[in-house]
Amino acid sequence: MHKGSIAVKSSKRIEFIDITKQINHAISASGCHSGICYLYNPHTTAAVTINEGADPAVQEDLIKIFGEMAPNNRHYKHLEGNSPAHAMTAMIGNSSLVFIENGAALLGTWQRIFFCEFDGPRSRQLHWRLRED
Ligand code: ZN
Repeated sequence: MHKGSIAVKSSKRIEFIDITKQINHAISASGCHSGICYLYNPHTTAAVTINEGADPAVQEDLIKIFGEMAPNNRHYKHLEGNSPAHAMTAMIGNSSLVFIENGAALLGTWQRIFFCEFDGPRSRQLHWRLRED
C-alpha cells in the first residue's frame, strides 16, 4: 500500500481543478503498475470527481447547475454562511477511485480527475492510497 497527499490551491470560490497530472505523478512515483487508486477529500466544502476534461464548458455548466440547486440567496440555518458549499459537496461526494493500468490512471478518452472547490480560494489537501493487484 502506497499513500500520500497532494496539495491543491484554489483561486476562486467555486472551481474545478484538474488534478490528473498530480495523481498520475503519485502513481508513477509509487512504481505501481496495476491496481486501484483511492482518492479521499477530507474537507466539508470540497469534493472529488471524475468527469469530462476536454471541454471546459462542461465544468462551467456543472458549476451553473450546482449554483441553481444550492443558491446563495436562500435562507439557511448554518451560521457560517457557506451552506451552498456544503450542499454542493454532498451532491458530488468526497471520495472517488480510479483503476491503475500500465502505471497510470485508467481514464476514458474524455475523463479527467477533478478537485471541486466550493468555498475557496483556499489551500487544500487530497489524500490518496494505492493498492497494487
Ligand atoms: Zn460551514
